[in-house]
Amino acid sequence: MRWAQLTLVEDDPGKFDLSFWLDLFRRTRSDAVCLSAGGCVAYYPTQIPFHHRSQWLGDRDVFGELVAGCRKLGMVVIARTDPHATYNEVRQAHPDWIAVDAEGRSRRHWASPEMWVTCALGPYNFEFMTEVKKEIMSRYRVDAIFINRWDGSGICFCEHCRRNFREASGQELPRSNNPQDAARRAYILWRQQRLFDLWRLWDSEVRKLNPDSCVIPNTGGGATSSLDMKRIGELAPTLIADRQARRGLAPPWTNGKNGKEFRAAMGRKPIIGIFSVGLEEPYRWKDSVQSEAEIRLWVADGVANGLRPWFTKFSGVLHDERWLKPVEALYRRYAQWEKYLRNERPLARVGLVYSQQTAWFCGTGAEDHALGWYQALVEARIPFEMVHDRLLDPAHLGAFKTLILPNITALSEAQCRQIRDFAAQGGSVVATYETSLYDEWGVPRKDFGLADLFSVSFTGRREGPMQNSYLRLETDPGTGRRHPLLAGLEDAPRIINGARRVEVAATAPFPNPPLTLIPSYPDLPMEKVYPRAPKTDIPQVYPRESGRSRIVYFPWDIDRTFWEVLCADHLKLLRNAVAWATNEDPLITVSGPGVLDVTVWQQRDSLTVHLVNLTNPMMMKGPVRELIPIGEQHVRLRLPQGARPRQVRLLAANQRPHVQRIGPYLDATVPSILDHEIIVIEL
Ligand SMILES: [Zn+2]
Repeated sequence: MRWAQLTLVEDDPGKFDLSFWLDLFRRTRSDAVCLSAGGCVAYYPTQIPFHHRSQWLGDRDVFGELVAGCRKLGMVVIARTDPHATYNEVRQAHPDWIAVDAEGRSRRHWASPEMWVTCALGPYNFEFMTEVKKEIMSRYRVDAIFINRWDGSGICFCEHCRRNFREASGQELPRSNNPQDAARRAYILWRQQRLFDLWRLWDSEVRKLNPDSCVIPNTGGGATSSLDMKRIGELAPTLIADRQARRGLAPPWTNGKNGKEFRAAMGRKPIIGIFSVGLEEPYRWKDSVQSEAEIRLWVADGVANGLRPWFTKFSGVLHDERWLKPVEALYRRYAQWEKYLRNERPLARVGLVYSQQTAWFCGTGAEDHALGWYQALVEARIPFEMVHDRLLDPAHLGAFKTLILPNITALSEAQCRQIRDFAAQGGSVVATYETSLYDEWGVPRKDFGLADLFSVSFTGRREGPMQNSYLRLETDPGTGRRHPLLAGLEDAPRIINGARRVEVAATAPFPNPPLTLIPSYPDLPMEKVYPRAPKTDIPQVYPRESGRSRIVYFPWDIDRTFWEVLCADHLKLLRNAVAWATNEDPLITVSGPGVLDVTVWQQRDSLTVHLVNLTNPMMMKGPVRELIPIGEQHVRLRLPQGARPRQVRLLAANQRPHVQRIGPYLDATVPSILDHEIIVIEL
């Protein structure tokens, strides 16, 4: 539940204070630890040729001493290995273990130029690192072996990679990054196969020595990660989500998103969220320390989304100790709350689909649509899960009423059928822009794979980037009312359009479309800025109902534009689309000021509502300077059928809130939230 990681640096063995670290693990109530063992540097007296012992090791076994100390504390112990770099003597003896660039040169390490980058897909990993893992497992019988940077440092042109790829695919290694290039596509798949083969080899070898152990490769992530999360979910008993802190422009919910992405493929298997105590910017200040507020907020959002915290520190000798107290306080808090963090089931009714194949084969920019939705759902305080596009079967979708497809362009016929089946069972779908306009390989279709579901066809025309285009908000002339999609925009005659659209033709009647297109008109010179066509009959949203199912299709990039521009009018459309499509009393409403990430979980004997306060001038770009409390929040939770609440508590405030029970609803008032409040409803 609470992880510690100590990654030793080579000169630590003579310098670092082992008892300090054991004491820290005890004080933080850490129950699991990851310790440096070998690979790049061995911290034990290895017998394997070319396995480089720390020059400061002497006759000690530092790894063994740490393992023994941690076991005395009752901790789960996993060994860390890192195979990505090696030494001159290795290159001399085994030149084919070294990665080769496109020009045929051995690759020097970019940060430690006396070292060499290894080939991940050849004998260095398959043979040498297998021996290292077997030695560590047979000597220490650790609970698992964690493998950092195991999947290569870019494409390798060594003799093994060239030959193996040619034998597997009949092609030469790709020189192009274009995913529609046949060799590149084959490489994307072949590389994955090699890595999954490597994973299985390592895993079976360590399990022969310790059947209760496994290897934990550092892998996985969202749409832009390179290994298929569906296969990862089948292979891995647990995983480490390695997104350690914010960098650049990033909201703190990025950590929660990470948790949701892993859980989509891993289900209830434990997922651990690494957080860095330092900055994670491209300049890699690896010995730096973040502000306490930033660490707290980042970790809180991960925990609220099902991640078990893992603090990581490189170097056993500390150059800056300011992180120690905040992490200790955080871990002691989570230790107290442990019973309520054993999340069994999220209760969210909305699923946001992510698609690695769209990112692999349709290229960059795929993520911006999902990020727009993520921000909108957080602002709308709608609990949601992420859903992997290769896991759209009834077992994975059963909990959801509404599925969001944020420009999921690449979908196979079978995936389209699963989405249709979901709708046929009463599920609702909200989709944007080019969703299903390509097959699973990123090859364009003539029409949407989901044309029948959307009740529109693609005309073949696209427009964009559009300058100065708008949407007209229409009123039903019969009733004088507007569609619920336009709620909150009663006084708006028109709002801004997005940046790109596809032209579609309706294949079913859409009477009184809520939004129509006002085409682009000149934005300069200012004298020429007047609408040439103030009104058209071209719908820009296609909502329809079929039984309990509701479908909303936007033929434009509302979600991507929202991520870029963050226009409040677009937020309302996105929020309304989900609310209208979901068409049931919401699971939870939280009213009050500020921005909150809201998640709702079921445990064995309790329900929990996590409220993470993201309200901060540094919300979109860290680091946070201070945590700023927000005022009173009114929470209304729809209780699961048969739930009998016994007692309601606020964990952070350590008090019982004012509570009212109205039919199936439980109303509670939370007076204030600093960073993270958990409402516990004991059942
Ligand atoms: Zn290679």
